[in-house]
Amino acid sequence: MKIPFFDTKRQYAGLQAEMQQSLEAIADEGMWIGGAAVGEFERAWAETVGARCVVAVGNGTDALFIGLCALGIGAGDEVIVPAVSWVSTASVVLQSGAVPVFVDVGADGLLDVELLLGKITARTKAILPVHLYGQMADMSAIRTLCKDRNIALLEDAAQAHLARRGGMGVGEGADLAAYSFYPTKNLGAWGDAGAIVCHDQDLADSCRAIANQGGRGVHDVLGVTSRMDTLQAAILLVKLQRLSQWTERRRAIAQRYVYHLKEVEGLQLPVVHEEAYHVYHHFVIRTSSRHVLRTYLQKHGIGTEVHYPEALPQLRVFNHLGQRVEEFAMADLFCQEAISLPVYPELRDEEVDYICRIIKTFYAKAEK
Ligand SMILES: *Cc1c(COP(=O)(O)O)cnc(C)c1O
Repeated sequence: MKIPFFDTKRQYAGLQAEMQQSLEAIADEGMWIGGAAVGEFERAWAETVGARCVVAVGNGTDALFIGLCALGIGAGDEVIVPAVSWVSTASVVLQSGAVPVFVDVGADGLLDVELLLGKITARTKAILPVHLYGQMADMSAIRTLCKDRNIALLEDAAQAHLARRGGMGVGEGADLAAYSFYPTKNLGAWGDAGAIVCHDQDLADSCRAIANQGGRGVHDVLGVTSRMDTLQAAILLVKLQRLSQWTERRRAIAQRYVYHLKEVEGLQLPVVHEEAYHVYHHFVIRTSSRHVLRTYLQKHGIGTEVHYPEALPQLRVFNHLGQRVEEFAMADLFCQEAISLPVYPELRDEEVDYICRIIKTFYAKAEK
């Protein structure tokens, strides 16, 4: 059996007719930038996540960067970020002129709130939690902490479309949330796309201005050019209708993995909070025999990935910040041991069963 880690073709097969119809309408309209589909997607996404304002931008990294700028974060400020994430989470902080301050993660891979407290200084202007792998960070605790200290709160929701925790949805507890619609994300475009979500119209207006070089005819603020293409918006609108169904399917696949693998010794399954609606952007297991297990799976036709091979404080690009490596023990463990197994809505039950069977065979052999 051959099971790729991710497969865009399977999804397209089920959407082909609708996509072609939608794209033809865009071609007829001929508004490649700022066409009707962009506003339509912004309204649809606002309704989906229960937010007042949505600003569609070019990608998820820009959504974070523009959000930081709109919140007035810059030189002399510190922004707290978790030590495990995609590099963008921290690089945007540097690009804004501020300094990223890393905090170790817990066994769930999420920002450790206890440790976070020890990192707050007079210069802390924002906290940027990441809902890693699709599980929300402890937003109610982090929100309280921010409110008490007048610290801005931005969510990196690039992996967390439709995620919830303890009755709170993404974007509800923060000043703003940044989404990515990169093709492999739970809601993926056919190229780059992103969005900023917030509840404050003035903040949304600032984001829109920054994303458009200040605005048309007014250039009062330093901006960038970051817009969602009309084509991408149209594609996302088609896919959005399936998102909740796809998310349920991801959860069912995760449940199936857990059912088969829960008794395998030497494997650490995802730590999931009872009150969390995990959307499984990734299904990440941990093992000290990562390299051999990955090779074994590869030999049996199963594609896997590593998210992420290095903790953020260890990346060369952040070396000059002088991080103390020993502070990030859990992050390092994730980076040394994590394997992401295939999890996408089109993955079939037989395939999940096969993957689990191969993993079990691997460990049965290892025991002898
Ligand atoms: C994908 C991702 C981003 C960046 O999104 P792009 O659209 O690729 O710029 C940021 N943070 C996290 C956690 C991501 O997974």
